[in-house]
Amino acid sequence: METHGGDPLMSGFEDHEDFGFETRAIRAGQPHDSRTGGVVTPIALSTTFAQDAVGQPKFGYEYARTGNPTRHAYETCLASLECAQHGFAFSSGMAAEDSLLRFLQPGDKIILGNDAYGGSFRLIDKIYGRNKISNEAIDLSDPNSIKEAWTSETKIVWLETPTNPLLNVVDIQKISNITHELGGLLIVDNTFATPYLQKPISLGADAVVHSATKYLGGHSDVVGGFVATNDEKLVEHLSFIQNAVGAVPSPFDCYLVLRGIKTLAVRMDRHCENAKAIVSLLSEHPKVKQVFYPGLESNKGHEIAKNQMTNFGGMVSFTVSGGLAMAEKVSASTKVFTLAESLGAVESLIEHPGIMTHASVAGSALEVPEDLIRISVGIESIEDLVEDLEQALSI
Ligand code: PLP
Repeated sequence: METHGGDPLMSGFEDHEDFGFETRAIRAGQPHDSRTGGVVTPIALSTTFAQDAVGQPKFGYEYARTGNPTRHAYETCLASLECAQHGFAFSSGMAAEDSLLRFLQPGDKIILGNDAYGGSFRLIDKIYGRNKISNEAIDLSDPNSIKEAWTSETKIVWLETPTNPLLNVVDIQKISNITHELGGLLIVDNTFATPYLQKPISLGADAVVHSATKYLGGHSDVVGGFVATNDEKLVEHLSFIQNAVGAVPSPFDCYLVLRGIKTLAVRMDRHCENAKAIVSLLSEHPKVKQVFYPGLESNKGHEIAKNQMTNFGGMVSFTVSGGLAMAEKVSASTKVFTLAESLGAVESLIEHPGIMTHASVAGSALEVPEDLIRISVGIESIEDLVEDLEQALSI
């Protein structure tokens, strides 16, 4: 059954490939409703759809887990922004990753970066490891290390760039070339950069995954995940898994992410601008030992970031003198930055990765420094953010 086809009652903007990023963010997959002229994609709550005859749904939709109009609009829009023909929405970033990884068979191996998001590592190591799928976490900043780690069982290279929380940048194009020469698939987690700053598929990635909970949703009010791809085998796999396993977002969640995406470009511009000012403050501060930000010329990945990103993002990490105690104190002393997990929304957040988001990787190759603080720079007035960090660091 056609579940990703167009909705003839929502026609009028089919040629979205020809338009610019910001236009597609607002219009791709979201034509005016021809019944009412409504300019906003409706939240289609119906779980089932009328059929003209047995097995002939009126508009391509039959049951809402399989496909529904709000999800279809969101999938079309975000796939278009990621330079992909196909997009699949899931109920969380982890559900998206899991749905993609179900492609693997017992005996297969995954190579991943040694600073991947802790939750991705936990899923790969603890859940897939149980199913006899092995992994090797390596330093992907040296793309040749892939050749050393590669075995005949390796099927996937999984990378994040910039990484969470150390903001390391790796060369997508180079890693894609090596992975393809070796016969594998390259999956890129584009959560930190978003398609506004970086388009992994145009750099050779076979699929892009997202935690839509972050910049795509952008307002800390929806959990979601996404996979975009042009690879026909992955399209077949994901279409099947999305329906068969059913880790799908509700129509309301789809609506929220779609609404967030409309302002992604302007929000990202402001996140980047504010992050740059925060980095200047931190780089000069006597209590700050090291700043991790790909926009810094001194950053190891700066030149790669300049080539493959259009700006450097809104995430900044730094270490402080005074060790764990000082890192905890600073994290708990801000007033405008909220002490909380997650990232990528309009409000600024601060957290201690070792104790909070990355506690699950303690003792592994992915363990993070104990004096590390991560901030998600929001879009508030920059003067307030600078003042807040200054007072927290002076404690
Ligand atoms: N990928 C990255 C880079 C993340 O930071 C996260 C969550 O923090 C995820 C994936 C998982 O996404 P979710 O929390 O939406 O399941």
